[in-house]
Amino acid sequence: MSFQIALISEQPLDSCPSEWRQFNSIAELLNDTSANVVILSLAENVCEQALIMLRQDHRYQFTLIYTLKSQAKPLTLSDGALPTDIATIQKDHATLMQRLAGFNRGRHPEQLEECVMAWLWTRPGASISAQRDTKSAQIYFYPLIHAFANNEPVNQLLWLRLLTEQGLLVSTDLVDRIRLCASCNSSRLNYVDVCPQCKDLDIAKEPALHCFTCGHVAPQESFLKDGLMMCPNCLTRLRHIGSDYDRPLENQSCRACRTSFIDADVHVRCLDCDHAQSPDELRVREIRHYTMTEKARLRCRQGFTEDISREYFNRLNLIGLNDFTYLLDWQLQQARRYPGFPECSLIALQFNGLENALTTPEGQAALDNLVERIKETIRDTDRCSRTREDQLWLLLPHTDYQGAKILGQRLAELLLLLEGDDNSVNSKVAVFTLPGDLLAEENAALLMGRLASEVG
Ligand SMILES: [Zn+2]
Ligand SMILES: [Zn+2]
Ligand SMILES: [Zn+2]
Repeated sequence: MSFQIALISEQPLDSCPSEWRQFNSIAELLNDTSANVVILSLAENVCEQALIMLRQDHRYQFTLIYTLKSQAKPLTLSDGALPTDIATIQKDHATLMQRLAGFNRGRHPEQLEECVMAWLWTRPGASISAQRDTKSAQIYFYPLIHAFANNEPVNQLLWLRLLTEQGLLVSTDLVDRIRLCASCNSSRLNYVDVCPQCKDLDIAKEPALHCFTCGHVAPQESFLKDGLMMCPNCLTRLRHIGSDYDRPLENQSCRACRTSFIDADVHVRCLDCDHAQSPDELRVREIRHYTMTEKARLRCRQGFTEDISREYFNRLNLIGLNDFTYLLDWQLQQARRYPGFPECSLIALQFNGLENALTTPEGQAALDNLVERIKETIRDTDRCSRTREDQLWLLLPHTDYQGAKILGQRLAELLLLLEGDDNSVNSKVAVFTLPGDLLAEENAALLMGRLASEVG
């Protein structure tokens, strides 16, 4: 079947190339054929809805969808403005299909999580971006999650947080900070000034006087007695403004309880559920964009259910991270406590782009070789662990700086084999020796954090 381009335009477009097929609505396209690439020539406000309809249809979830003209506001679910030549479109389409075929070992994405990951995977550099929608009670939403959730109710912020905790997503730019009703999470809130005494809404600014003798503040009428100015509290006669009395700057009084006050209380009433609360009871949410992590890319490549690199590294008898940290802490304590305690070293190995190595038989062989050589190099008493898919730790008791440095160099040479000619994998080694490199107060977790940022 030939390469099919569909143009959606409410009015027939005269300048449309003859090989494109024209449709006047998304519904018409969905009832008809299945195109390889879709081009939208619709008004901006209609475009968004059209994109959601297309992304919710199984045939167009990941298809390249362009807009005929570039849009003032970028549309998250589109692939931007139409490229100028057909060759670019065909090339982009081929690249996308190839990446999609490589996703999750060829399994078509089904669940929300897989769909969102597949989207990011097929569009390197894309992010899950937040969009403002003043009609929504939460003001911001994520069109990508909305489209792939397929009308299922999804708590988007919670969903994003879970995937972030699993290390699959990472938040990027801070878009906004919003406050939500503590009872129903709505952000349609009304902030009102109320009387600090009786909390009544009916307050008003009112001219007031302030007696210097006793400090009494009250509406100015209450200071008038028989045509004279007199403090109703201490009965002092007030003659000169500035020396006997003055006018407080902002004075307000409550019509319900007649109290005068300077600062009103602020109450927040939810316009959706009527819940009244003080501003510090509101929930605060940061709205951010999200992108996928290296770990997520690795999962996309290797499958969501299995982690192939584990098959390789497990031959190193990896121990759990907690045990590893415990052992390292123990070494740190001994090094601090006993001067002359034998030196001990820690090596961090970081493989950036490990998923690239695993895509080719050569890369897989190189990783296989690397793991085998690490296994030969380390001793029975050494311990290995992994913090992330692409970060390996070696704890080498009774190894001084010289010994660790030699081992580090040997590992760096082995890592070069993995990197290949195209530099698709970029690995780094960091070496640390106790007690010389130890910082005061540093524990195992802090030390590993320091080394991780050195190699990261
Ligand atoms: Zn009051
Ligand atoms: Zn007074
Ligand atoms: Zn509410």
